[in-house]
Amino acid sequence: MTTAFTKQTIIPITELEQSAFCQTDGNLRTKTLEEEFSAGVRWQKVPTRYLKLTPEEISEGIAFARNEIGEKAVLLGHHYQRDDVIEYADFTGDSYKLSKMAAAAKDAKWIIFCGVHFMAETADILTSPDQNVLLPNMAAGCSMADMAKPTDLLDCWDELESVLGTTERVIPITYMNSAAAIKAHCGKNGGLVCTSSNADKAFDWALERGDKILFLPDQHLGRNTGIAVGIPADDMAVWNPHLPMGGLSEAEIKRVTVLLWQGHCSVHTRFTVAQIDAARERNRETNIIVHPECTQEVVAAADMFGSTEFILQTVATAPAGSSWGIGTEISMVRRLAANNPDKDIFCLDPVVCPCSTMYRIHPAYLLWVLEGIMSGLAINRIEVEPETRRNALIALERMLEVAG
Ligand code: SF4
Repeated sequence: MTTAFTKQTIIPITELEQSAFCQTDGNLRTKTLEEEFSAGVRWQKVPTRYLKLTPEEISEGIAFARNEIGEKAVLLGHHYQRDDVIEYADFTGDSYKLSKMAAAAKDAKWIIFCGVHFMAETADILTSPDQNVLLPNMAAGCSMADMAKPTDLLDCWDELESVLGTTERVIPITYMNSAAAIKAHCGKNGGLVCTSSNADKAFDWALERGDKILFLPDQHLGRNTGIAVGIPADDMAVWNPHLPMGGLSEAEIKRVTVLLWQGHCSVHTRFTVAQIDAARERNRETNIIVHPECTQEVVAAADMFGSTEFILQTVATAPAGSSWGIGTEISMVRRLAANNPDKDIFCLDPVVCPCSTMYRIHPAYLLWVLEGIMSGLAINRIEVEPETRRNALIALERMLEVAG
């Protein structure tokens, strides 16, 4: 008799909130926190005095605090942050670049990470225990990272062991966009972390050491990478963490080379082949460049694909007059367009839809943590517990060895 059970499917709040800021008028102007809360979002509570501050008052407060705190604080801003946050950043980059920046900021007592939770965790793992990594809004998670729960991964690992007899030849790889506990599992079990710029090297590394890859949490990055390194699509299968045995038969689990965790990015899966066709119809000379978190069909239809930094560098160094249809987060695309007025740069998605979790870093939260520092308070400090930190560091260091 089989025990029929289906784990409860919980759609991350961040995924539900994604549509709250999608709009057609294209206006991403920062409003007071009180006004932004009226969209029905569930963000971290802040002292009431921050709710009504105007963007101008917030800006003055941030400039004053930064001046008072000086070089003891380093402010890191992810490319998907709003302009009103990026303007205060000492360094901007994608998650990989910023994690290296955090590791290099040895003299900073305070590292303020304007990004999402897994990035601040990574920064904490890569910095020394006497440095403080702060995330301005603790609700700034990542819906994709939330799709890989550590307990579900442990269940998956047990199930793989029961089917395969051992997990010794299964190499777990996790995308940077995952909780520290997921990274720790990879470190402890002979695996590693990767980013969208080095996932191909991580796959090659893994297949030199094992027969099978378990890739978390983004099925699309995993599939696109697998295809890029020569693994046929039917040699990969999706592991659904809400079903027993991932929804796969024993034969399938044994047969495939890559098991792809059923996770996705709610921002990058909005892009479609129809949008690419429409862009090419408008201008046959348009270059289409997309992020590998997009679906395989979109990546296959694009002219090129790559990490956030790759997109940024490719478009920024392209000849004047060139046209670029981009499949990545809107805040970055708009900034790229503003900084390169000699090129035609546009987002493939006509609906303006920022990453809702990145968007949670409203400048008022930034002011709150800066004023905390001035009072000697570490508001929203991210601290990964020691054993998780140790094992996650192993997985991160392997990535740095493999990818440089
Ligand atoms: S863009 Fe996607 S993967 Fe990146 S933080 Fe937002 S939800 Fe997560």
